[in-house]
Amino acid sequence: LTFDMFGFSQPILNCLAALNYSEPTPIQSKAIPAALEGRDIVGLAQTGTGKTAAFTLPTIARLAEDIPKTKKRKIRALIVSPTRELAAQIHDTVKRFTPKVPLRSAIIVGGVSYHKQKHALQHGVDILVGTPGRLIDMIDQGVVDLSEVETVILDEADQMLDIGFLPAITSILELLPKERQTMLFSATMPKEIRKLTNNHLTNPVEISV
Ligand code: AMP
Repeated sequence: LTFDMFGFSQPILNCLAALNYSEPTPIQSKAIPAALEGRDIVGLAQTGTGKTAAFTLPTIARLAEDIPKTKKRKIRALIVSPTRELAAQIHDTVKRFTPKVPLRSAIIVGGVSYHKQKHALQHGVDILVGTPGRLIDMIDQGVVDLSEVETVILDEADQMLDIGFLPAITSILELLPKERQTMLFSATMPKEIRKLTNNHLTNPVEISV
């Protein structure tokens, strides 16, 4: 198995080669083709399995196919993560995969000045990574506009449940366009998360590694 089989563009393949990603991990082999088709995904996977690349690579590839001509970008992919640290890691991964891909990304987490984060958003971003609390805050302030979101990813959903973010992620899902792709990753599948997937995902491909 190689990354060539997914039909990624040359800039992405070069980037993977530079990072020494020679072959996809099991979650990547299963999730990437389904995500590229636009399918909803429920992924049962722990950290360390390569799940970050499993959801960021197909999302980047899909967005890069259709870069808006306008200068002002609207958020087309939203990645929600339980903690600042994890959000920062995901944002780093997005940036690592996009040095030659003309997509913009930003991160919105608690504990950081609003001013800097608002500034990043003013220029418009294609991919936004954030934690639920600060995201809701910025949505309420009218700084984050979710009206054009095509893909949403909920990472470590069970951890978000444990922290008490279930109401926040439910609100975020309800604000998104109905016609969209939703991917949910979780290490375990407690009944609240199962219910969330039943209510907010459409005919998802279930992947467990
Ligand atoms: P994650 O489970 O997303 O936190 O990824 C765990 C680690 O594996 C990270 O350091 C990634 O950079 C690395 N990684 C992910 N996919 C691959 C791959 N296909 N080949 C080599 N390393 C990878």
